[in-house]
Amino acid sequence: MKFVDEYRDAKIADQYVKAIAQITTRPWQIMEICGGQTHSIVKYGIDELLPQSITLIHGPGCPVCVTPVDLIDKAIALASRREVIFCSFGDMLRVPGSQSQDLRSVKAMGGDIRIVYSPLDAVKIAGKNPDRQIIFFAVGFETTVPTTAMAVYQAEKLGIKNFFLLVAHVLVSPGMELILSSPDNCVQGFLAAGHVCTITGYREYNEIAQKYQIPIVVTGFEPLDILQGIYMCVKQLEADTTEVENQYSRSVSFEGNKTAQKLVAEVFATAHRQWRGIGLIPHSGLRLQESYSQFDALNKFKLEKGTTSESLDCISGLILQGIKKPHQCSAFGKHCTPEKPLGAPMVSSEGACAAYYRYRQLAKD
Ligand code: SF4
Repeated sequence: MKFVDEYRDAKIADQYVKAIAQITTRPWQIMEICGGQTHSIVKYGIDELLPQSITLIHGPGCPVCVTPVDLIDKAIALASRREVIFCSFGDMLRVPGSQSQDLRSVKAMGGDIRIVYSPLDAVKIAGKNPDRQIIFFAVGFETTVPTTAMAVYQAEKLGIKNFFLLVAHVLVSPGMELILSSPDNCVQGFLAAGHVCTITGYREYNEIAQKYQIPIVVTGFEPLDILQGIYMCVKQLEADTTEVENQYSRSVSFEGNKTAQKLVAEVFATAHRQWRGIGLIPHSGLRLQESYSQFDALNKFKLEKGTTSESLDCISGLILQGIKKPHQCSAFGKHCTPEKPLGAPMVSSEGACAAYYRYRQLAKD
């Protein structure tokens, strides 16, 4: 197939739905890890096409959603400084910090906050504004990390000394392990995130599949990708096998992108990381290597320790772990909307609450 429409072909989708129904003999619970997959599932109603015995659980794969409130507060404090140009992806501007403040409100009060599409844009801004301090809010899973690493690498090579990172990068597989090791875990199969595996490959999933005795299917984002991934996963569940399979072979190889991996390892090291609504997950985040610590915004700017607070109504932790669905939150569509979000999953383009709000009109009634 050459064109994206071909991955949305209704006739082929129908064939997959029938094939899934034919092989399903028992109830199964499958988690799609990535927020991009959740949006496709909700947008195209894939969960509603499946046999009732198959439940899709939405996972924590939305990096904007899991960025802890403490880091949002730090971003707000940094962006409020007169000497700073704060660069960020657009999604982050409306994520609420403590006291419902967000970066958008800092911008409205005169903060120099710029939406960029790549950290490399922030390096360019640094080059053009040598009298200002440029901070890039580095958010994202493994998919976006190589570009951040490249920005740091490039800034160093160019001798740019006014470019810094506020690092909020997170790693997918420790999040998967947290879910699988929970005593309340009900996930029986995983659709792993295709885009992440484009960089990382899927070598590391073999260990997880064997340790937790669970099938993992690396899956893409188009409707037919997801249906095929579900078919492969159900087939394994019915056969009681626990292999790692690759549905997204047009983009993902076993080893992944080694050049990108090398660059990431040069610039970043793993670190323990708080996930918003979930808590501390060991080795689930990244920090700058000592040799690049001069680019760390938190080293450059000393911030006062503040107390963090979040909306008591927001159950994003339960949503992100797949324990509850967005419309089961009492604030959904009432006190929490994309215009006035209480939590990040209602803001992010990969957030489950945003997907339900946008595509599941009935759920708001
Ligand atoms: S609907 Fe809003 S308040 Fe409820 S979990 Fe989602 S983001 Fe939080």
